[in-house]
Amino acid sequence: MVDKVKKAEQYKKWYLKNKEKKLEKSKEHYEENKDKRREQQKINYEKNKDEIKKKNREKIICECGKSLTLGSLIRHKKTNKHLNFQSKNLKNYIFV
Ligand SMILES: [Zn+2]
Repeated sequence: MVDKVKKAEQYKKWYLKNKEKKLEKSKEHYEENKDKRREQQKINYEKNKDEIKKKNREKIICECGKSLTLGSLIRHKKTNKHLNFQSKNLKNYIFV
């Protein structure tokens, strides 16, 4: 019986010690990888930069009929021309 208690006690100590070690390790791991991750993100961005720019320059025709570039679509959707079209378009729907 005493032995069991002792063992449990030992296990608890070992467990707590290990927990701290693990925590320390994962913290180190996180710190180590933080820079790596940031570096990777930068590389990915640099790699895709031209692709993104190219995509943003692609010409499209909006549902309201205006031709514009993909990069300006978000801005365009807030313009009066587009909003007017949208509100006009809404009148074609039957609300139930
Ligand atoms: Zn539009």
